[in-house]
Amino acid sequence: MSDRSFLNWPFFEDRHRALAEQLDAWCAKNLPVDHHDVDAACRELVAMLGRDGWLKPTALDTDNPGPLDVRTLCITRETLARYDGLADFAFAMQGLGTGAITLFGTADQQHWLADTRAGKAIAAFALTEPRSGSDVANMEMTAVRDGDGYVLSGEKTWISNGGIADLYVVFARTGEAPGAKGVSAFIVPAKTAGLSIAERLETIAPHPLARLSFDKARVPAASLIGKPGDGFRIAMSVLDVFRSTVGAAALGFARRALDESVSRAAERELFGAPMADLQMVQGHIADMALDVDAAALLVYRAAWTKDMGAVRVTREAAMAKLFATDRAQEVIDTAVQLHGGDGVRKDHIVESLYREIRALRIYEGASDVQKVVIARQVMGSA
Ligand SMILES: Cc1cc2nc3c(=O)[nH]c(=O)nc-3n(C[C@H](O)[C@H](O)[C@H](O)COP(=O)(O)OP(=O)(O)OC[C@H]3O[C@@H](n4cnc5c(N)ncnc54)[C@H](O)[C@@H]3O)c2cc1C
Repeated sequence: MSDRSFLNWPFFEDRHRALAEQLDAWCAKNLPVDHHDVDAACRELVAMLGRDGWLKPTALDTDNPGPLDVRTLCITRETLARYDGLADFAFAMQGLGTGAITLFGTADQQHWLADTRAGKAIAAFALTEPRSGSDVANMEMTAVRDGDGYVLSGEKTWISNGGIADLYVVFARTGEAPGAKGVSAFIVPAKTAGLSIAERLETIAPHPLARLSFDKARVPAASLIGKPGDGFRIAMSVLDVFRSTVGAAALGFARRALDESVSRAAERELFGAPMADLQMVQGHIADMALDVDAAALLVYRAAWTKDMGAVRVTREAAMAKLFATDRAQEVIDTAVQLHGGDGVRKDHIVESLYREIRALRIYEGASDVQKVVIARQVMGSA
């Protein structure tokens, strides 16, 4: 049983504690699913999570509007990640993929949300391009106004859910100004003529990922989210909500690695006694627990600050993401070490955590980029 004492911290309300309890029981019963066909597994996970109501917090409830609850998003990601990285991915992308529609969409655009919250439509967020990842304001893809629509041309890459999504929120240059101020956001249904999957991308921890090609893909003007030129601000506002949830997923992976290590140390005999009696092993366990608690404090501080009404949590979210993902990598590496040969056995739980954690230090802003963000915030407020 994972340590749940953090749920008594003042960041949480009773509804968060109840969610953690109920979702943990659901995960124990339903996860992991078979990952052999990753597209099928992801579709199944979205459908299961939607059927049982777990996707509801990912987007605005148009019948009962209110802000996204970031603590709920974080607790859900942490819990799912402890059981199955792909389940966390399926949940997270429904939120990231529709974040722009929740925060800035018109009532008509928000009709998508009933389906994404029910697991009946799969969402994706298409920002990165082959020549602009970290340097996102340098994007090249264009959206040109043409009569009552826009014509999109260019490429997006590393798009999670690419190939299985029903809708993509796509960022493209509309040219109101150079750089960040000349970008707009659009809703592009997967069946749009001219949108195709140029390449499927395989990674060390398989998730549905693709490079997308837009060959004069035409969308109605009503697909524009917000105003022309607002796209960069929209993308950053979405990341401001979801960045700390990446830290929460890392926290879930790290907590699982710690749990597995504690069990292993108790069960494994070395030199005539349980491995847990070795003081150097105890030192490793202490370091892991310290990293897990410190990461949890930063993640839930960022989530709570946002939920308390902060307009932006740039500094808090960057700190949470940077610390939780980097330290989870270290915690998991130690777990692999403590498991000896079993730690590197294909499909052993700590081996899969070792592969799952790596990309979290790259996407939604690489660790180095988070340091730049934190330094700017700290120096700017000095
Ligand atoms: C598994 C996965 C899923 C993804 N899902 C999505 C998605 O759904 N939608 C989407 O739009 N994108 C997605 N991405 C793309 C991701 O956001 C980019 O990969 C990331 O922003 C880095 O961009 P890049 O790969 O072009 O690397 P580059 O921008 O070339 O950066 C390479 C490295 O340079 C260093 N670096 C960059 N900037 C700085 C700096 N200012 N100072 C110091 N060092 C720096 C960092 O170490 C960085 O890792 C995903 C990526 C992965 C791996």
